[in-house]
Amino acid sequence: MSPRYQSLKGFRDMLPEESLRWQWLEGKVRELMRRYGYGQLRLPLVESTELFARGVGEGTDVVSKEMYSFLDKGDPPESITLRPELTAGAARAWVQHEIGKNQGLTKWYYVGPAFRYEQPQSGRYRQFTTFGVELIGSPLPEADAEVILAGVDLIESLGIRNYRLRLNTLGMPEERTAYRAALLEFLNTRRNQLSQESLRRMESNPLRVLDSKKEEDVAATADAPKILDFLAHESLAHFNRVQGLLDGAGVPYVVDHKLVRGLDYYTRTAFEFQGLDLGAQDALGGGGRYDGLIEQIGGPATPAVGFGFGMDRLMIAAQAAGAIPDQQADLQVFVVGLGDAARDWAMQTTRAFRQAGIAADCDLLGRSMKAQMREANRRNARYVVIAGDNELAAGKAQVKDMQGHDQQEVELTELLNVVAARKQ
Ligand code: AMP
Repeated sequence: MSPRYQSLKGFRDMLPEESLRWQWLEGKVRELMRRYGYGQLRLPLVESTELFARGVGEGTDVVSKEMYSFLDKGDPPESITLRPELTAGAARAWVQHEIGKNQGLTKWYYVGPAFRYEQPQSGRYRQFTTFGVELIGSPLPEADAEVILAGVDLIESLGIRNYRLRLNTLGMPEERTAYRAALLEFLNTRRNQLSQESLRRMESNPLRVLDSKKEEDVAATADAPKILDFLAHESLAHFNRVQGLLDGAGVPYVVDHKLVRGLDYYTRTAFEFQGLDLGAQDALGGGGRYDGLIEQIGGPATPAVGFGFGMDRLMIAAQAAGAIPDQQADLQVFVVGLGDAARDWAMQTTRAFRQAGIAADCDLLGRSMKAQMREANRRNARYVVIAGDNELAAGKAQVKDMQGHDQQEVELTELLNVVAARKQ
């Protein structure tokens, strides 16, 4: 019989064993960001719906189909939304706190849940965890390169080798408008070859048609016009410089003129890290430049570049690569008290170990000595400290080494020192 309540479709529980792997992954992210000099941003889980409509774009799938939006209990009620991504919130915070007044360049990162009402499948959930960076204030290709290199270093530090970096440019708005018109004209000549979905996308966001993985769309768009042919000198020079910097860093990439990002706010550089072991949902992360975003949500015109990674997919890829070390909650010592007085002593001693920074535990179930030893084994305790009432009266306890299997009698006053000194 299945239990009465189950987590909702697309929402998962992380039990302690899995949490240890997440702590490992988050530790890698924090360490990377320390080295790159990015400060951590902790944002609210909900924002006004309007922020995402403006900051992500009404023409996107995320805004038009996938948001968890609610009316709150205000009078009049306000429409609020569980964040489907964190860039809009980060830009909102940057404007709200007037960060640009005091610093020329802002380097922020965040790790946290995002929510999208999508059809769940492997690597795609309704609540997922993103890691993202926002580099705000620099229009230069060097900034694009730094962000991409941080992504490369993250993937490499997780032991993931089987991935591909795809790179494209989406030009500036006026260049994209001209390209969009040419693309639309081309797509109109291919109407009878395109999938239903692409025909729909043509209306709202024709660039997304290039993104389709459906065979008929891939074939129909093989000779579609390329954005590169619509770029003015400055955008071309920017793109070439980003490539030059990646070449200089020895980072392999492929230029893919069909790479368009799902969100509206990109300008110029767009990139994606594709995990080659991931199956259908193969985007490990992606990002690009979005010089228009901050102005779009009411701030001063400010260039920015960033990325968002799906931590859940990084986890799948790191596991597939066998890169995650065996995680064990390490119990240093299990304290066994035999007899009534000894049980009190076991609790006090356990606490003394814990206060000294040593992971310690004792029985809380009134178990027999044999059952307690079994528990110490199951918990992989390095040491077991054992005393009965008589031994305690004599001021002594036994310290059993569960790896070396030797046993030693120790003065109670020395117990802490002995176990601490023999820390694994
Ligand atoms: P996006 O903002 O759509 O570029 O998403 C950034 C990254 O988040 C993607 O590259 C994915 O790795 C991850 N992602 C997006 N949607 C989901 C989802 N529904 N479940 C898990 N990961 C996701």
